[in-house]
Amino acid sequence: MSEFFAEDLLQWYHSEKRDLPWRRTDDPYKIWISEIMLQQTQVNTVIPYYHRFLEAFPTVHDLAEADQQQVLKLWEGLGYYSRGRNLHQAAKMVAEKFDGHLPDNYDEITSVKGIGPYSAAAILSIAFNKNYAVVDGNVIRVLTRYSGIKDDIRSAKVKNRVQELADDLLSKTDPGNFNQAIMELGATVCSPKNPSCDVCPVSSNCVAFQTAETDVIPYKSKAKKVPHHQIGVGLIVNDIGELLIALRPNDVMLGGLWEFPGGKKEKSESIKQTVSRELKEELGVQVEVFDRYQKLKHAYSHFKITLHAYWCKITTGEPKPKSSMEIKWVSLSEIEQYPFPKANKTLIDGLLKLDDQDLKNFLD
Ligand code: SF4
Repeated sequence: MSEFFAEDLLQWYHSEKRDLPWRRTDDPYKIWISEIMLQQTQVNTVIPYYHRFLEAFPTVHDLAEADQQQVLKLWEGLGYYSRGRNLHQAAKMVAEKFDGHLPDNYDEITSVKGIGPYSAAAILSIAFNKNYAVVDGNVIRVLTRYSGIKDDIRSAKVKNRVQELADDLLSKTDPGNFNQAIMELGATVCSPKNPSCDVCPVSSNCVAFQTAETDVIPYKSKAKKVPHHQIGVGLIVNDIGELLIALRPNDVMLGGLWEFPGGKKEKSESIKQTVSRELKEELGVQVEVFDRYQKLKHAYSHFKITLHAYWCKITTGEPKPKSSMEIKWVSLSEIEQYPFPKANKTLIDGLLKLDDQDLKNFLD
């Protein structure tokens, strides 16, 4: 391994790095927020969320004292909502147990909800200058190419090998900038396709470049086909033109967010039958299912859905939150106050082009 790797990389980073908002601060709280937001999410997507979030919650104490709904509303559209819920819980813990200061050692920081080995290494190195090397998808790409590792990057063996390499190469005098630099190199130069090796600061010792194998390294075996579910939901309208929404339990995927009630289609039923069965199970009501309002597709990390939303009216029963934390009737002018997952939000964006009276008239 080149003894100049860290030096060359850092020199390049200092002249070429992008000016990102979390690079202008040394406040561990702000670095923490950025690291959590950046998990599985593109830099350009994160920037406006980062600014809005810190404007609303400038300190750990502000976040700790916030209402979960307010936190999730600011997280709306960013995805992986458990990150937002965990961050909120974690802020309460840091405020109470650590007097509002994020701990600067590995054991304590990994006791904070939502901070695993990756985030701990990133925060400890960037905010506290501690010697922990980070390994994310960008680092894996750079180091497998640099060292000529051709094995499947899905394997634990390769991940461990890359971690060892990163630990080895880490600048022990400037670990925070080193970690940011290697991730920056992966994000801007050592791209998945057609890396810009001609401007890469470490190309002279890069095996993949020297052997012209950048198009076969890293090797990643094919992902398993992800399941695709058909989901039927009801847009239940009452006599005064309000819509019924339900609050998902905290301990499930998309927990703490609101949604239009509904669920997965079973093999033997039509999608309209799904809507009717789900609303009976979830709310204890019989509904009449009218026309379809919208059909849309959405992809989550491990499955895809096609969402079918149908207008509905309750014919029998009083709705109760049988599988949600709470239900509410809301008018269109109120609905935007509540946090919703992406697919539901797309439905709402269309509904907002209607007005309360349109809804009231809809089922007449
Ligand atoms: Fe990546 Fe090319 Fe640099 Fe090697 S030389 S690390 S392949 S950009």
